[in-house]
Amino acid sequence: MDAMQSIRKLGFRKWYERTLLRCHGNLVLLLLSTLGLLIGAEAYSRDLPVSTQLQLLACAIASGVIGYWALRGYFRLMREAEFAADQATCSQCETYGRWDITHEDPSHQTMKVRCRKCGHGWQVALFAPELAGDDPDPGSQRR
Ligand SMILES: [Zn+2]
Repeated sequence: MDAMQSIRKLGFRKWYERTLLRCHGNLVLLLLSTLGLLIGAEAYSRDLPVSTQLQLLACAIASGVIGYWALRGYFRLMREAEFAADQATCSQCETYGRWDITHEDPSHQTMKVRCRKCGHGWQVALFAPELAGDDPDPGSQRR
């Protein structure tokens, strides 16, 4: 489910909270894979049979790949959540994240929203990795 569908279904605040939880799940996975890497390094010895050395090497490579994947996931989700959160406050009444979606444009990953408190409307752009490329500050492109 993409961000727009999730926000429509859960509301912005719950979507944001869940995205941050997923983010931190990736950090836990990164920690576990680092532990796996360290345990493999601790267990390694040149005196071990070659097959055992190769198994430890395979475990170390797997831990490294999983750790890299988890770290990338963490940064991707954090960027997505923060990019939307930066636009979630109503400029009229300063209410955070309490709005209804009035129009969605999935092709541009944008939504028109209306504040539940004061009725002010504005546009929220969601982070689209395919549009942002590897720009470390994707917010600079959209404003
Ligand atoms: Zn408002």
